[in-house]
Amino acid sequence: MTTSRLWHGFTDMSTVRHRAPFTITRGQGAYLFDAEGRRYLDASAGLWFCNVGHGRAEIAEAAQRQMSRMAAYSTFGDYTNEPAEQLAARLAELSPTDGASVFFTSGGSDSIDSAIKLVRRFWLALGLPDRRVILSRENAYHGGHIGSTGIGGIALDREGFGELITDTARVAWDSAEDLEKTITSLGAERVAAFVMEPVIAAGGCLFPPQGYLQAVAEICRRHGIVLIADEVVTGFGRSGDWFASRRFGVVPDIIVCAKGLTSGYMPLGALIVGDRIAQPFYDGTAGPFFHGYTYSGHAGAAAVALATMDIIEREALAQNALSLETRLPDLMSPLTDHPMVQEVRTGQGLMAAVELNPQALRVTPGLPMAVVASMREAGVLTRSLVGGQIQFSPPLIIGNSQATEFVDAVLTGLNTIPPQRT
Ligand code: PMP
Repeated sequence: MTTSRLWHGFTDMSTVRHRAPFTITRGQGAYLFDAEGRRYLDASAGLWFCNVGHGRAEIAEAAQRQMSRMAAYSTFGDYTNEPAEQLAARLAELSPTDGASVFFTSGGSDSIDSAIKLVRRFWLALGLPDRRVILSRENAYHGGHIGSTGIGGIALDREGFGELITDTARVAWDSAEDLEKTITSLGAERVAAFVMEPVIAAGGCLFPPQGYLQAVAEICRRHGIVLIADEVVTGFGRSGDWFASRRFGVVPDIIVCAKGLTSGYMPLGALIVGDRIAQPFYDGTAGPFFHGYTYSGHAGAAAVALATMDIIEREALAQNALSLETRLPDLMSPLTDHPMVQEVRTGQGLMAAVELNPQALRVTPGLPMAVVASMREAGVLTRSLVGGQIQFSPPLIIGNSQATEFVDAVLTGLNTIPPQRT
């Protein structure tokens, strides 16, 4: 048993406590190093966050410069600071809506909960307090707070906590018709917002069917429903553009982001709020939005985000994701021929997942975890998603050779695992 006092999230501690911990000590580019100096490819960019790669001295220097002057001060009332102002302006500039305003948080779950509260206050301000229902999609992951767990589409995450949040409904992940039907049966006058990840990430790397995002955006517009894009994963180059919304040509009322915003160098999240939603709070009709976090507008985190965005821009990382996207099907093709592989999911940007076939999953219980463990032995770090898919979402700085390294490690994993029963 280890002597570690660290409690790991989403982890069975009854098994992990009996193992020697796996300590990462250093990162450089797309690679990480353990305490013995062994090198590993980071095939998941941490938890989808490290878009610019590890060990970027210029981000640490930006943090050092800002934090040695002032790390943080509240931004409630009329208090502000230069990095937070610059970052808000830069995010508003990238927004597909004109005149957006930016509300800062400390991460993705914070941002989703903020968005839920914001839209309910918005409708209250407009004199429509019955518009409270938050619609979301099956398989979606929106975070770990009470609200974001409650609207999540992964049943296991919601079980055993009692009633998390009232006035929610879930729709099929891949059907605009189901969204329309659900709105009709609830009555549009009760629906506040529809929250969606443009590409469902943790729920299995599910790319939207052709035309789906445009269709749901049109449905929301027609019914006056607020469209919230959860771009916590898809933002900041991951989808081949600053935001997947831009890539797909949809204009959400609110874009929620985190992760890639700082590439994980600091915890930070943001809501980019279109003018339609911000207006009643800015013209006085809504009164204050009674919400905010201690670290909303954290100066050090904002400086880190600005330095991260400089790198994404200077090194054209969204374009690199875009060009890898076209090569991925070819690079991944050795996997598609493997008898244990159902499909290799690729789509927009540098996100992919290897889906194992139901027969292999039946014959070898725990197969995805075993493959991931064997990949670690082979020098590639990743994880399996809820449906057992093996995640590929490396830093956006990689080239063909790292994709091949991943493919080879998956093959090694699949070929070294003996079936446990037949
Ligand atoms: N939304 C999505 C799409 C996510 O993938 C995540 C985190 N995996 C979150 C929200 C929650 O973000 P955080 O863990 O930073 O609170």
